[in-house]
Amino acid sequence: TSTPRKTHIAILASPGMGHIIPSLELAKSLVSHHDLKVTLFVPTTSSSSSESSTPQTQLLTSLSSLPPQDLLNLINLPPVDISNVVPTESHLAIRISAVVRESLPSVRSIIEKSQQQVPTVLITDMFGTDAFEIIGDAFQMSKYLFFTSNLSALAILAYMPKLDPMELMNEPLLRVPGCKPVRVEDLGDSFSYPNCGDHARMVQHARRYVQTSGVLVNTFEDLEPETHRALSDDEIARLIPLPRVYTVGPIIKSAVASPEGPIHCLSWLDMQPHDSVLFVSFGRGGTLSAEQVTELAWGLELSQQRFIWVLRKPNDITLVSSTYLGDAGGGQDDPSEFLPDGFLSRTRGVGLVVPNWAPQVEILSHASIGGFLSHCGWNSTLESIVNGVPMIPWPLFAEQRLNASMLSDDIGVAVRSPIQSSKGVIVGREEIERMVRLVMEGEEGKVMRRRAKELKNNGLGAVAKGGSSYNSLSQLADKWNGDSECGLI
Ligand code: UDP
Repeated sequence: TSTPRKTHIAILASPGMGHIIPSLELAKSLVSHHDLKVTLFVPTTSSSSSESSTPQTQLLTSLSSLPPQDLLNLINLPPVDISNVVPTESHLAIRISAVVRESLPSVRSIIEKSQQQVPTVLITDMFGTDAFEIIGDAFQMSKYLFFTSNLSALAILAYMPKLDPMELMNEPLLRVPGCKPVRVEDLGDSFSYPNCGDHARMVQHARRYVQTSGVLVNTFEDLEPETHRALSDDEIARLIPLPRVYTVGPIIKSAVASPEGPIHCLSWLDMQPHDSVLFVSFGRGGTLSAEQVTELAWGLELSQQRFIWVLRKPNDITLVSSTYLGDAGGGQDDPSEFLPDGFLSRTRGVGLVVPNWAPQVEILSHASIGGFLSHCGWNSTLESIVNGVPMIPWPLFAEQRLNASMLSDDIGVAVRSPIQSSKGVIVGREEIERMVRLVMEGEEGKVMRRRAKELKNNGLGAVAKGGSSYNSLSQLADKWNGDSECGLI
């Protein structure tokens, strides 16, 4: 007897760890819990693939925790060079979208040449909509979007084509139907500045969301109840405009016993008391100015709290998009070059500085971690919540200000920090010391930690069998299986 053929799903990730990690985890979940077969396509740039030590390469080569290859086929696409396609100084969304677009001919030819049955469903993330026509329509796949941020950002982005951006610039608040008004200053440049190159590209992507049969969002109902209610309402969904929205998160990387990278920080954590260590990290693309690194170092030292700080070479431009895309960052800079004199020796035993990259999920899930000073990338945010860790937001780019305000003002798991109120300011050492003490040893910190632990349980419940996010994926899987049997797709 032959085993029944499983419905085959294609997922096309966008470059950048913040996109690749959740796409890989979604793929694993569809294979392990929903009886589907998945091919995950991962675009690479010429320089990211040539560096064997980049986190992306490490992640994609550590395949031990993956399901068997015939069920989850992970394809690292041939590297593309976008230097002749978009100017090097382009904004990040333009560059990410260009890498995906330039990779599409390879995706097409791999599907054409494959001996396997052609996938019947295509899932791309928010920057991958060029694939709808070039791959989805070409192979008659049904199209879905995997939105690797939250419902609030999705609603804003989907509503953007209906807005006059010039008018928006003169308003303090943005009102999306059915959703809580958001401060315009909390929107990333690509949302709020029509003259920013990213804006037109993001609007182009957003217009296409409605062509899909559904949007999977990496969040859970209890995290954004108001926006979830709004987007589940047919009337409101028509105004925004969006297809059916499915909350499927929190989909995050699970901690592994032997992670890649500097693991000495894990054995150091083993020796520290519960909830006593602040983790400080700004994601893959975030860098601080030299002056801000100095203030942060002093702030940490003055707070006298334990910390692990993932430190990247300072840069006066907050975002080095080449770092984000994996073109750089594999090197091991010497942190003492950009820290105040004597900092490392004065904080020895109390703090640990790790250059460039650390096993974040393993760190956040360690019982000794009691707070997270974070750039509030959406994956980092979910990882913090799922581990019940309160946050100090330090948003830098993209939708991170929006995430930060949500965490401090709505969800109640983060302190409100001055970096949220004014762009480009240098936050002084005393202010940093105050926030760190507040989260790590103050009453407010305790309240936030309790709230974070409560959300942790809700989040874990959502993805457990029978939870709301698990059920969303089951519903989708049933639909895909049914459609594929009826030959509808
Ligand atoms: N990450 C990590 N180690 C680091 C920095 C980041 O493992 O030193 C992981 C982190 O756990 C998260 C992802 O990379 O899963 C970053 O995604 P996020 O959306 O938070 O931020 P981005 O890097 O996209 O700005």
